[in-house]
Amino acid sequence: MSILAAHELYRFYHLGNDETAALRGISLTVSAGEMVSVVGPSGSGKSTLLACLTGLDEPDGGYVTIGDQRLTRRPEAERATIRAANFGILLQSGNLFQHLSVRENIWLSMLLANKRDQRRLDELLQAVGLSERARSYPSQLSGGETARAGLAAALAADPPLLIADEPTAEIDRDAEQRLLEHFEARRVAGKATLIATHSAALAARADRVIRLADGRIDNG
Ligand code: ADP
Repeated sequence: MSILAAHELYRFYHLGNDETAALRGISLTVSAGEMVSVVGPSGSGKSTLLACLTGLDEPDGGYVTIGDQRLTRRPEAERATIRAANFGILLQSGNLFQHLSVRENIWLSMLLANKRDQRRLDELLQAVGLSERARSYPSQLSGGETARAGLAAALAADPPLLIADEPTAEIDRDAEQRLLEHFEARRVAGKATLIATHSAALAARADRVIRLADGRIDNG
């Protein structure tokens, strides 16, 4: 059963007279219990695709569906409701509040979803390798630690669908292994995961790898 579907997505950016076609007709599906990775060189459209899939950006053509609900071209309040019910999201722009510690950020995500769970919070911190950094503030973290703290916040509410951009940047082998186990547990629980990544280990564990090149899916 497909949870997320993209139908012929197009996205253009205009700077002066220059037009960049960031997405040129991308269609994909992600099913319950599936882990899909999106790979491709810098500039191939990964971030734009993830932003459109979550409804944080609107495609210029095509549309996105979550289950049987259309996400695209609806008022932001409706998109936000659909997002909150379905998605955990970590994009490059980050999702952490700067005045809250790592632990408080994850706890806040749980509070907002009405899913407070101290034990799960500790497990998440361990899964992303940040147990020792729980009381640090985002400004005190490295780039990789920030991404992993953001990932823990995105996972806090145990979302049916996780969308994450490069969650394992600058991560050591042990921490990556723990994260892979966490993603495996999501798969077994019937949760869907879509991750843009440069990590060969992560891509190798995915059920499916979608390769982007120049805004298109590269089937070659
Ligand atoms: P990736 O995540 O694979 O590096 P992006 O989705 O960030 O790719 O970018 C795809 C293309 O769209 C690139 O050519 C990039 O320069 C362009 N682009 C992305 N965001 C913007 C923007 N806000 N304004 C103009 N061009 C953009």
